[in-house]
Amino acid sequence: MLGDLERSIAVLRGDPVAVRERSAADAGADLTDADRARAMLDVATRQRNAVLSALKRLDEGSYGRCLDCGRTVPEGRLEARPEASRCVQCQAKRERRR
Ligand SMILES: [Zn+2]
Repeated sequence: MLGDLERSIAVLRGDPVAVRERSAADAGADLTDADRARAMLDVATRQRNAVLSALKRLDEGSYGRCLDCGRTVPEGRLEARPEASRCVQCQAKRERRR
């Protein structure tokens, strides 16, 4: 998963033509290629950071526990979002606060 992200980040940074070809199929009407590339790079970078911090927590032995309440994050959630750092309830609380 991390390798995939690194690859797409490299593609997004280095090769605008590849980005244009990759996203031609689902071209957002109002976005310029540069905007779209920036948005994709942003998403990929954020996702990579989440994965990296999940790996760090794996090293520290705190992986799989909610950062906020310390309860074990359900396995089903970790399967869907391996980089999830909070249980569903705490994540929902954070998103409401924004
Ligand atoms: Zn929690």
